[in-house]
Amino acid sequence: MKQPDKSLIYPLFIPMQGCPGTCVYCDQRKISGAGTFDLEKAEGEVTAFIRRNTGTRKQVAFYGGTFTALPLGLQEDILLRISRLLDEGDSLRVSTHPLYIDADTLSRLWRYRVRVIELGIQDFCDEVLKASGRNYQAELAYAAAVAVREAGFTMGVQLMPGLPQSSAASLQKNQRMLLETKPDLLRLYPTVVIKGTKLARLYERGDYLPLSLREAVMICADYAELCAPSSIRIIKYGLPSNLDMAEVVAGPYHPAFGELVKQELLRREIKRDPKRGEHLYPKEIQLLKAHGSGEPDQ
Ligand code: SF4
Repeated sequence: MKQPDKSLIYPLFIPMQGCPGTCVYCDQRKISGAGTFDLEKAEGEVTAFIRRNTGTRKQVAFYGGTFTALPLGLQEDILLRISRLLDEGDSLRVSTHPLYIDADTLSRLWRYRVRVIELGIQDFCDEVLKASGRNYQAELAYAAAVAVREAGFTMGVQLMPGLPQSSAASLQKNQRMLLETKPDLLRLYPTVVIKGTKLARLYERGDYLPLSLREAVMICADYAELCAPSSIRIIKYGLPSNLDMAEVVAGPYHPAFGELVKQELLRREIKRDPKRGEHLYPKEIQLLKAHGSGEPDQ
């Protein structure tokens, strides 16, 4: 298990290009309208970031797309031009899709100082992956995770509880697979129904039922308890707080979703050990009182 990386992160957003575009929860029109990546502008921003933070370990992260699905020439160009701006000890991070991981890709990323790879696995069950339009099977997701880890990268996994066809049994399988793949980092994004997606149409026809907010909080709190002893660090709960509410059709979206999970974890701790409740820090008392009186909305 790697030590937590304390690098200062500078995020760059790569709009999706060349994606198969079949995930039922994703709105392709918005993604294809998201513009192209301005490498020159990114170089300027990264140069300023590096200068501002000399003497600190830094990481430039490529988020927002399937980095390794970009045309090879573009990938090389981005990696070369951004990696040569880094100070010694700095690194890069990419997020990508498990379909686009192979030995050549991994060695290319390593050569350009990528040290963290986050995989959008979303689920480890075939029926859920199929119903969600992910275009790969659980075996491939597992193999991609193992390959990333064995190549020496810090490995991150993203999971989406509540995808179509998910169930108590699929949740258990995901929990088992998580302990088996042992990522260093985990992001949990309970599925939210976004306007304009196939999932929104399924929901409107009554063919998909999202998790309630309470169910999603409970599932994430269960993951947190599962991950703690295995040193799997959960780095994100829920979609970003700045998501436009007008885009949300249904599902467990809450702008402070992560706080709801932390609140639930603290409640569980107190329930297990009532003495713990007598010695709370002011911040913990505040946390218990935040977002209404008690349980998250149904
Ligand atoms: S979520 Fe799926 S469809 Fe949307 S950009 Fe990612 S891979 Fe493509």
